[in-house]
Amino acid sequence: MLNNYVFPAEIATRLRKNVKGALFTDLANRGRYATDASIYQQFPVAVLIPQDAEDVKTALAVAAEFAIPVLPRGGGTSQCGQTTGAALVIDNSHAFRNILEIDLNRAEAEVEPGLVLDHLNAKLKPSGLWFPVDVSTGAQATIGGMAGNNSCGSRSIAYGNMVHNVLGIEAWLANGKVGQFGPYAQSTGVAKELGTFVKSLAEQLQPEIEANWPKVLRRVAGYNLDIFHPQSELPYTSDSSVNLAHLLVGSEGTLAYFKSLRLKLAPLPQHKVLGVVNFKSFYRAMESAQHLVKLGPSAVELVDRTMIDLARSNPSFKQVIETALIDPQAITPEAILLVEFSGESQAPLLTQLQNLQELMGELGLANSVVPMIDTNLQKNLWEVRKAGLNIMMSLKGDGKPVSFIEDCAVPLEHLADYTQALTEVFTKHGSRGTWYAHASVGTLHVRPILDMRRDGAQKMRAVAEEAAELVRRYKGAYSGEHGDGLCRGEWISWQFGPKITAALGAIKTAFDPQHLFNPGKIIDPPKMDDSILFRYPPNYAIIPLKPALDWSAWDVQNNPVTEAISAPGTGGDPALGLAKAIEMCNNNGHCRKFDAEVMCPSYRVTRDEKHLTRGRANTLRLAMSGQLEQDAISLSDPLATDAVKEVMDLCVSCKACRRECPTGVDMAKMKIEFLQRYKKRVGHSVRDLLVAHLPRYAPIVSALPGLPALLNLRNQVPFIAKLLQWLTGISAARSLPAWRAKTLWKNQTILQEKYTHSPDALLQGERKGVVLFADTFNAYFENENLQAAIRLLETAGYHIHIPQPTKETRTEQPGCGKQFCCGRTYLAAGMVNEAQEQLSALLTHLHPYAERGIAILGLEPSCLFTLKDEALVMGFGEQAITVGQQAQLLETFLVAELKAGRCQFNLKAATKPVLVHGHCHQKAFAALTPTLELLKQIPQANPQLIESSCCGMAGSFGYEVEHITVSKQMAELSLLPAIRKVPNAWVVADGTSCRHQIQDGVNREAVHIARILAAHL
Ligand SMILES: Cc1cc2nc3c(=O)[nH]c(=O)nc-3n(C[C@H](O)[C@H](O)[C@H](O)COP(=O)(O)OP(=O)(O)OC[C@H]3O[C@@H](n4cnc5c(N)ncnc54)[C@H](O)[C@@H]3O)c2cc1C
Ligand code: SF4
Ligand code: SF4
Repeated sequence: MLNNYVFPAEIATRLRKNVKGALFTDLANRGRYATDASIYQQFPVAVLIPQDAEDVKTALAVAAEFAIPVLPRGGGTSQCGQTTGAALVIDNSHAFRNILEIDLNRAEAEVEPGLVLDHLNAKLKPSGLWFPVDVSTGAQATIGGMAGNNSCGSRSIAYGNMVHNVLGIEAWLANGKVGQFGPYAQSTGVAKELGTFVKSLAEQLQPEIEANWPKVLRRVAGYNLDIFHPQSELPYTSDSSVNLAHLLVGSEGTLAYFKSLRLKLAPLPQHKVLGVVNFKSFYRAMESAQHLVKLGPSAVELVDRTMIDLARSNPSFKQVIETALIDPQAITPEAILLVEFSGESQAPLLTQLQNLQELMGELGLANSVVPMIDTNLQKNLWEVRKAGLNIMMSLKGDGKPVSFIEDCAVPLEHLADYTQALTEVFTKHGSRGTWYAHASVGTLHVRPILDMRRDGAQKMRAVAEEAAELVRRYKGAYSGEHGDGLCRGEWISWQFGPKITAALGAIKTAFDPQHLFNPGKIIDPPKMDDSILFRYPPNYAIIPLKPALDWSAWDVQNNPVTEAISAPGTGGDPALGLAKAIEMCNNNGHCRKFDAEVMCPSYRVTRDEKHLTRGRANTLRLAMSGQLEQDAISLSDPLATDAVKEVMDLCVSCKACRRECPTGVDMAKMKIEFLQRYKKRVGHSVRDLLVAHLPRYAPIVSALPGLPALLNLRNQVPFIAKLLQWLTGISAARSLPAWRAKTLWKNQTILQEKYTHSPDALLQGERKGVVLFADTFNAYFENENLQAAIRLLETAGYHIHIPQPTKETRTEQPGCGKQFCCGRTYLAAGMVNEAQEQLSALLTHLHPYAERGIAILGLEPSCLFTLKDEALVMGFGEQAITVGQQAQLLETFLVAELKAGRCQFNLKAATKPVLVHGHCHQKAFAALTPTLELLKQIPQANPQLIESSCCGMAGSFGYEVEHITVSKQMAELSLLPAIRKVPNAWVVADGTSCRHQIQDGVNREAVHIARILAAHL
């Protein structure tokens, strides 16, 4: 299984000497580029991350000289394996991604291939233009990759595919020559020569082209030989002229390496309306598509019942999908079709919506349309539709929905019969398909669930053969959107016949005589079911290990027909579920997004695959299946290696992937597994110990007279800071949280008399009782937050119990210190046993309160959410579940109480603007809404949420000398600039380290929500 290839040192030296970017030849880096969103895996021979076009040019020259295959890569989101290969993979997405020109008058843009679609469209938005090939992966797909695949968006019925929207391509050929591929009539040089050659082939083959070319909009197989004899429903050019760039579109990196692309832009529609048609029968939905397109919609997209149900069972999507249903209380429709109309003004669109309703009436389906005029509702529903595949891919177990016949396109008049027949094929083979996507153009995505580790390959072949027969019967295209790659290459000759296939081979040889560009794609493809190419080949095996946390929920198998999941722990994972949790990453690349959410902060600042959730998951998978460098360490404990450390180093454990990754890859927990094993191997540093044991020594430091002041000298005397940096690795460029001599615990009389109550005592009397957990950070460094929280709760009429260990607890509970602790700092250092001890003491104390339904409130999100997250997988069983259910942030509790009318505040009006920065863990648990709602209780506050990813401090990360630069870069991405823009605002941040980062970065005090509210009492 180990990939033993060694990249020749001489060539590596030549390349490294002559390029500015980085060349990687090691297994871990190659392994991270060995997969895309397909079932395949092939290790590259090396990986180059060019800094610019010059680097690519140099690399191509060296590759040509030594006959090394080359594979251009964008986001690596292809579904068919076209981005995998034993070649020098060149990643354009890191730096080769500039916008070269935007010509507003001509509505054209020229861009480098690594530019991401959404980034281009964000740039174009103010000018009222967009590039309208709106693929679902727009947040991560690059223009070069989209052109490479001839990608198509949901609105292709209105705008066409990539081939209809590319005006010109400047490209390197394998011999290093540059060709200007544009209108054939004006072409010159090498482009003209090649174009003329292809023209002669097309002329010879005109009868074959006319006979064998599918006459549908969605055909992306092979090369576009039909530029000389147009066969597509939508002409490639508006004047029917020939554009040689169109020959390169869809060539999957096999003909030429795109240097820049000239794109046709479109006016951004000013208005859109949506009519969501609900169907009781899937067949009727499919039958209706041919009639719906006659109304002139810009999209008709399908979501079937399985997907509606999946969306309804997902808390993030439930509310949104239900806005599309005629009656959310009634039985779920078998299918819905999202029919969109768009244009310059709204009135005609409303008429079109009316036409839709009338049409459905004529078709015998009156009252089946949900009109959706509100743009936010529409936007949210489109997000659910776009998340369709990812919703399906979150299925646990080894059976996964596999793409290989997922984008066949058939003429609309046959859509109903085709989908019905294919469904029968799935049933025959013991599987089932979930249907969604582009009903407007007859391209429905469907992926039967197959177990590629067992009998998936045989079933795949059988289903593909029967699907192909259906495509032929209905005169469709076998490859209609995602490209040929490894799973459909062998079907090109089936689709076009031997003569055209031979001509495609001749085109390849004319462009690339040595067949160096992306070998094995389109020309000379392998068999789709050659298991040697699979990510999970028959000899794939996990090195057994016992994880520190409980991953049994992932250790399951599924039923491909019912999708029922077996009991936790029955999946047969030698790593007890950890391996299967890692394998949930299907490489769709969604973690490469740069949107308003959080995932993935380290990628956002580095743009390096290894600092990306996907890169981390791939590295873990390769390590655990013995596919990385093998030595004594990796064989005995694959997670404790330096290769894994390299990818985990910048993971800030923000937990964003837990929520934002469509398949729920929870890298923060995986980091705990890594740290526990790695630190066991290399030992804990002084800094680890200082941070981890903080909750243990904080009571001692604060109790010793004069010691807090002495320790605080570190922040005033640079020499001490430097010395400490040298001794501990804590950066001298950071101030440290200041110790307080006066802490919550100082006045034990009041604590005992006023804030210590048994669970039953808390329930007595008229006042309602709550538990307020005083975490180490707020108790020892920012006591004022706790005091503010106490004031608020008392004003609102609550009894408060503040947990404090007694002498007896300390004797009975191993590891229980002077104060309770959630174990967070220990988890951050990989000291799981110590965290367990701390949590055990805390949970034992809290459980009787939780059992009685008493709310357990916290101020510090990272501590509070430890109770709702890690504590549930650390072997505490029911005790942790009960406590987790009652644990909530102060604001979550107060908002619920306010809404229920159980409390009220009379707050003074705000005199300054209020900005809010959400802690990553707040966002990961969707707990930020109450923060904003509570702040709105302050009259005239109008709190504004800062759209920010992680603040970059992430516990101790931002204090560490080797991480301070990255930490500051994370903060500068959006958080600090947003605060600087409003100099007089309150800045509200619940996280201790977030407040510190803000103080350090903009020299402004940020406050906990308890403090701003208390200040307005
Ligand atoms: C969840 C999901 C949803 C998807 N939805 C859609 C969809 O709605 N519509 C759709 O069409 N596709 C879709 N895809 C497939 C894929 O995302 C698109 O094809 C996307 O355009 C690929 O872009 P990329 O940057 O990831 O390209 P990559 O996968 O990196 O590359 C694609 C091809 O282009 C070639 N290439 C890249 N750069 C160059 C260059 N400079 N010169 C020459 N060739 C180059 C590569 O060699 C490769 O063959 C989806 C995939 C997933 C996982
Ligand atoms: S980590 Fe999640 S978001 Fe990233 S590629 Fe894997 S599955 Fe997709
Ligand atoms: S926890 Fe945060 S930093 Fe780590 S991989 Fe997930 S999103 Fe990225």
